[in-house]
Amino acid sequence: MNKIKADVVEIFLSIQGEGIYIGYPQLFIRFANCNLNCYYCDTLIKNTKTGKLYKSQDNYQIFQNPVSIEKLYEFIGCFENNYYHSIALTGGEPLLAINFLREFLSHIKNKNIFLETNGTLPAALLEIIDFVDIISMDFKFNSVVRQSIDYSVYKEFINIALEKNLYIKIVVSDDLSDDDLKIFLEFGIPNYIPIVIQPITTKENKIKVSAKKIIKIQQLLMQKFSDCRIIPQTHKFLELL
Ligand code: SF4
Repeated sequence: MNKIKADVVEIFLSIQGEGIYIGYPQLFIRFANCNLNCYYCDTLIKNTKTGKLYKSQDNYQIFQNPVSIEKLYEFIGCFENNYYHSIALTGGEPLLAINFLREFLSHIKNKNIFLETNGTLPAALLEIIDFVDIISMDFKFNSVVRQSIDYSVYKEFINIALEKNLYIKIVVSDDLSDDDLKIFLEFGIPNYIPIVIQPITTKENKIKVSAKKIIKIQQLLMQKFSDCRIIPQTHKFLELL
């Protein structure tokens, strides 16, 4: 019996609402806690005493945290009769639960593992890279998230993530500047990596960035990246989890 445990906020089947895998059904495991503190964060990452297992969108069961690896396997087993493209590890920042993930993922067989991450924990990524198939990495600009992230961690992270199927999401707001975009263009990211421009959606489900600005950002980024798409957070409009 493995003693490692982790705080999990919710487990549910839904569709991917962001990025280039949009619309695929996924089994989401949302881990608690994050090492960043974005002012617009809309995820339930701090309620850690209990978690919710949604067997369907309106039928859930509450479980106690922290959960063991065995318990999480059992929860995943509740969805064995459902179709899904991949298991999405999300948060919060799932890589904070690295000790748990290392053990948990080593026993998962015949499932695609999709990691949604803020891209700031390269050492943790290195530990589980062999178990991950797809990486959806956020590149957050300091001007947009209003905090100070050392961009060199992104460089380290991307170098490791390139081994796998990687795409990068940049979250944009009116605060994003041309200087930010210049940094991104000169960051050394290979030009074949898909880039998703994701405008911030407010808690009222409104996109605050003007269409003109978003198109301008895309035009600038396409000087380098051939696969560069504007994709908002669609699950919010569909009112899905
Ligand atoms: S990185 Fe994501 S989960 Fe963490 S605070 Fe920012 S928006 Fe929230």
